[in-house]
Amino acid sequence: IRSNECDLIELREDTALLLPGAKLQSMTQSKAYKMIRQVKMNKRAYKEKLNRKATKRNMELTKQAAADEKGGLPETSRVWKSTKHKDVSRSARFFLWMLIHDGYKVGRHWAKIEGHEHKATCVRCGITESMEHILTKCDVPGQEEVWELASEMWKLKTGEDLPKPTAGQIMACATTRKKDTGTTRLFRILISESAYLIWRLRNERVIQENPPASQDEIYNRWLRGMNIRLRLDCALTNVGKYGKRAIKKDLVQKTWVKVLKNEVNLPRDWMRETEVLVGIG
Ligand SMILES: [Zn+2]
Repeated sequence: IRSNECDLIELREDTALLLPGAKLQSMTQSKAYKMIRQVKMNKRAYKEKLNRKATKRNMELTKQAAADEKGGLPETSRVWKSTKHKDVSRSARFFLWMLIHDGYKVGRHWAKIEGHEHKATCVRCGITESMEHILTKCDVPGQEEVWELASEMWKLKTGEDLPKPTAGQIMACATTRKKDTGTTRLFRILISESAYLIWRLRNERVIQENPPASQDEIYNRWLRGMNIRLRLDCALTNVGKYGKRAIKKDLVQKTWVKVLKNEVNLPRDWMRETEVLVGIG
């Protein structure tokens, strides 16, 4: 039992990632152990499938994008650690981790699978899909609109446009540092949530075979995502409820100042307001 207990602790994070929605705490022990065994097996098979060469290449791209002014590159371990950073939401953390691992089956991954070769190509653009194509280049409504929205918010925050990030800059977003903690944190949130939304929009179209999202839908989805992050931040300032997991009010204030709707009229302690929203456009 003791060793199983260790497994439970060690695997908890991975378990939650691989089995979204699974509530380990509320499960019976035997059921939990069964699931853990399954996860372990999946994990091994899954690791073998990961293309190491592609991971190395992505890690290089990420490091280059994260280079400091003198060209100094971050350590590999720092990049992996960044994919667990609390500035990024849990689901977007997994997304970044998968991106660097080249773990998503798109483009050339399909080219050698008999009967599925057609899935390698972007139907709209007629070229081989890649995560870079999906996130930064595809002509289907999605990426262009999302990055414009991100830039709009960035302009409110900093007075500057946000150039569309490269795939490397997306993967490196959680290592990126800006001039102060609030700007840094908003940048990480903005890039990770925006990229993750583009990926979801693509999957709804390609895998679920929905029509491409409309401009309104893209706008609403993006804004909703940012508002969810904002509200989560506000909720997490409650030390009484979250204890050590709570976020300092000061950090939340620094992150969202200048991008809130109707900001001049907000009370000093706006984090207690349930109606606080991000405001662009
Ligand atoms: Zn395309």
